Amino acid sequence: MDEVTGAQLIAAALKDQNVEYMFGIVGVPIIEVAMAAQAAGIKYVGMRNEQAACYAASAIGYLTGRPAVCLVVSGPGLIHALGGMANANVNCWPVIVLGGSSDRNQETTGAFQEFPQVEACRLYSKFSARPSSLEMIPAVVEKAVRSSIYGRPGACYIDIAGDMVNAKIDRATVRFVSCCPAPPVSQADCREITQAVRLLKTSQSPLIIIGKGAAYARAEKEVRELVEVTGIPFLPTPMGKGVLPDDHPNCVAAARSRALLQADVIVLLGARLNWILHFGFPPRFSANVKIIQVDLCAEELSNNVRAASALLGDIKMVTSQLLETVRSESWRFPSDSQWWATLREKITANAQITKALSLQTTLPMNYYTAFHHISELLPKDCIIVSEGANTMDIGRTMLLNHLPRHRLDAGTFGTMGVGPGFAIAAAVLEQAQRFGQKVVCVEGDSAFGFSGMEAETMCRYKLPIIIIVINNNGIYSGVDPETWKAMEKMGDMTTIAPPVTLLPEARYEQVMSAFGGHGYLVRTVEELRTALQDSLKNTQMPSLLNVLIDPTSDRKQQEFPWLTRSNL
Ligand code: ADP
Ligand code: MG
Repeated sequence: MDEVTGAQLIAAALKDQNVEYMFGIVGVPIIEVAMAAQAAGIKYVGMRNEQAACYAASAIGYLTGRPAVCLVVSGPGLIHALGGMANANVNCWPVIVLGGSSDRNQETTGAFQEFPQVEACRLYSKFSARPSSLEMIPAVVEKAVRSSIYGRPGACYIDIAGDMVNAKIDRATVRFVSCCPAPPVSQADCREITQAVRLLKTSQSPLIIIGKGAAYARAEKEVRELVEVTGIPFLPTPMGKGVLPDDHPNCVAAARSRALLQADVIVLLGARLNWILHFGFPPRFSANVKIIQVDLCAEELSNNVRAASALLGDIKMVTSQLLETVRSESWRFPSDSQWWATLREKITANAQITKALSLQTTLPMNYYTAFHHISELLPKDCIIVSEGANTMDIGRTMLLNHLPRHRLDAGTFGTMGVGPGFAIAAAVLEQAQRFGQKVVCVEGDSAFGFSGMEAETMCRYKLPIIIIVINNNGIYSGVDPETWKAMEKMGDMTTIAPPVTLLPEARYEQVMSAFGGHGYLVRTVEELRTALQDSLKNTQMPSLLNVLIDPTSDRKQQEFPWLTRSNL
């Protein structure tokens, strides 16, 4: 009899489904699962918190289109991973969470770390199940992998009873399932395509919005053709950045508010009309805007704004259909239009304001100065991970992306703490593929705190990530060291210290040097440039630049009052 253990079956089933990466933290009962996965040729990355492990696994799913696994222990381990599952599911990114669980004969007895895990995960996933027997493990793994990437991608959960890990069965009795094929794709109804192009041709001020759905769909070639053949201006969403380069002549990101407000027809390619796009509502959009919406999820169509044209299908396919019709009618939006003139005028005016702020020489630096110098030095092909409030918002406008799927940030869920996990995933992929691309993780000081201990993971695996902490001593903004000292003298800090403040001038770079990585404390432009140039040369170990900026530094003056609120 050829016997296999539950752990070996899980590993073999994952391998059969082309799962290549596993991130997790081991403990009872899943140590053997990690060991079996490694033995089966799956790369295992041991992290320091399950949340970060799940962020990392989900980033692999987004970057490659094939899910990775987040492996966690029962109870608290699984609960820590829920944050990562929710983030993945809200972002529409595939991920498989594999949770150790109580033994089958101990359910509801108050077993060690017992928790209703399958039920708990249901709210955070597309699919949540516990294989009823060892024989069923491969079938459940296949279904989880398939569910995570078919239709709208998302998170899936597999619960593994502790006693199943080391139990053995005869291999001949197992229901093995071969690798599920890539998701099938569909085209939109051709009458709808004709109607959409007709609408586009009547437009005085058309706009293409490129979302992270287009990035996930790997539709960069088709989207570029659509933009260049039609001559329409485009605007990327935060993670839609890079599908077309930010410095493409049709990119109107620097006139974002005006473009959204004055567009009369918008082609929405893989972006939801949620808070990121102000729901498509006035005052940010015209009340009469007509939306040509492309999405593979039928339920998404007409959310918040009734789609003038609902194109259900895969972005690559539907964009090709649109292109074919546009080409056959030889239509092109004129470049000498009033629309282009008004957008160009705004872009020029905004560039001047940003330039003035960037070139300020007073110390401590403001955000714009720091980002100006960082962007000058970053290689064009680097992967930029970013989180934090102002750090992410200002960084998004200042740090350009040139390649698709090269920006990872707080995303649809606005999650803080994702940065280190995302950066580790990107760096692990880079280590395997050797494209020679740098991973740069631009973090607010508060954001860095959530998963900062992953610096140890980066050092352990020798991942040459560059973390840049834009340190303003707090959440949104902090206070300077003198004010802090004065407050300390006044009495009990729990009653005085503003809740937004963090320890002024905290030495985050020492977190990295503590584990053998490179740490740099940066106060001046010269120090910033030298430290960044130096860390770009560090190919063996990660670096952390602790960039002390002015705690009162803020976003530039906004034209509309609603833009001064955070996150808008
Ligand atoms: P963003 O954050 O960039 O605005 P969202 O995550 O809100 O983007 O929206 C992405 C959309 O793309 C989702 O509605 C999702 O269903 C859709 N989507 C994902 N992959 C594809 C695909 N291959 N084809 C069409 N739509 C897709
Ligand atoms: Mg801060």
